[in-house]
Amino acid sequence: MIVMKFGGTSVENSEAIERVADIVRSRLEQRPVVVVSALAGVTDSLVTVSQLAASGALAEGLRLHRQMRQRHFGVLASLLNGRGETEVRSRLQALFDALEDVLRGVAALGELSPRTSDNVLSFGEMLSSHVVHTTFRARGMDAVLVDSRQVLVTDGAHTRAVPQVEETNRRLRQSLKPLLNAGRVPVMGGFIAATSEGTPTTLGRGGSDFSAALVGAGLGARKIEIWTDVEGMMTTDPRLCPDARRIDTIGFDEASELAYFGAKVLHPATLIPAVEKNIPLYILNSRNPDSKGTCIRAHARPSKTILRSIAAKRGVKVINVRLPRIFAAQGFLHALFEAFDRHACPVDLVSTSEVSVSVAVDASRDLAGLVQDLKRLGNVEVEDKKAILCLVGEKLRGRIGVAARVFGVLASAGINVHMISQGASEINISFVIEERDIPEAVKQLHSLFFAERAGDPRWIARRGPRAKALPADGSSARASRAGL
Ligand code: ASP
Ligand code: MG
Repeated sequence: MIVMKFGGTSVENSEAIERVADIVRSRLEQRPVVVVSALAGVTDSLVTVSQLAASGALAEGLRLHRQMRQRHFGVLASLLNGRGETEVRSRLQALFDALEDVLRGVAALGELSPRTSDNVLSFGEMLSSHVVHTTFRARGMDAVLVDSRQVLVTDGAHTRAVPQVEETNRRLRQSLKPLLNAGRVPVMGGFIAATSEGTPTTLGRGGSDFSAALVGAGLGARKIEIWTDVEGMMTTDPRLCPDARRIDTIGFDEASELAYFGAKVLHPATLIPAVEKNIPLYILNSRNPDSKGTCIRAHARPSKTILRSIAAKRGVKVINVRLPRIFAAQGFLHALFEAFDRHACPVDLVSTSEVSVSVAVDASRDLAGLVQDLKRLGNVEVEDKKAILCLVGEKLRGRIGVAARVFGVLASAGINVHMISQGASEINISFVIEERDIPEAVKQLHSLFFAERAGDPRWIARRGPRAKALPADGSSARASRAGL
């Protein structure tokens, strides 16, 4: 069997859901379980309505509720054209009524607990799974709606619940196996689950990928397909570099490194249950179903090129903390990171020397309180309008001369590097440059690593007793003359 997960944009309107039905039909002999997100934007709207209700603006919340209702009924009407509409219409109506009741309750209390928030958010996927299920049936597929709250069991950590894998797997096998054996197509909402007592929970925003991975791992799927609206992972952002190519296969570790810096396709951490079971995952484009997409697997075939991908993250600030005196160094790093922790400020990149530390963070954060605290440790300076470039590739490990080429190319282009870090796994080199230098840096590095000659195995020497950089063309000869 396989799992097919469709994200919000793949079910955003009736044409999109129409495409989903065609895609699923083309895979029927592979015995799919279908997992769907809420219609694009619906989870965000549900967050908004619940906050409106809690803050005394119920009327405004209910207006948004009506809009959501109209949208779902509109999609349903154009999908079904009157065929078998009455039953599903009354089911959707019941869901919208129940949602309204919850919102009125929130307004009466003037408070939104995490538990209630999960309850509100769970409506998005319940609605979408109803719509998709009905569409499949109207198109002649033997689809069965499976309530995710009855099969995915979690603890009670609302808004980010943790699955109880054994019980979940037991229920998955018990309820889904017989359906698959009978040739039926289970349809489930992603993202939502319940405690063993049946209280609705959610797996955290973007959690439908996680649902798909759990279902796939629990049922021993042959593969998991994550259907979205892009061609897959790319060698770099195609808006920055028209030569960017689709990545055919990528290792799980490589994909994880990229996820933190810009490759927003999906967060591989959510795929861990599948990767642990060695189930390959495919990222596919529901608008272009014949494209091959990107395969993520635990151990991917080595790439022809040294790098797998170049990711760029804009909107970065660098905080430099300099110790006033060297001998105060003991306990410094501890105190420093404790401050970041206290202000719940995630750290993107760190580099240290004996007397100073540079930390790159997301520029959208309010740093005032943190900087205040850091000033107790040393001199603090914050630099704005920076960006992180992250070069990732399994083949970087043990290569000699890559850093020299990277920084040589940047130097020739007049690009200043502010901070450098190589991850412990040795499969990435990350560094901070000026935000305005991103397009030029990406263009230069992409052509260095992904042009034809980059596939030549002699391009950069492997680690070894006689290792040295082998010039593959005139440019490396120039580089060695320049002392790189
Ligand atoms: N609908 C949920 C969200 O927007 C879950 C998902 O789409 O993965 O976060
Ligand atoms: Mg998503």
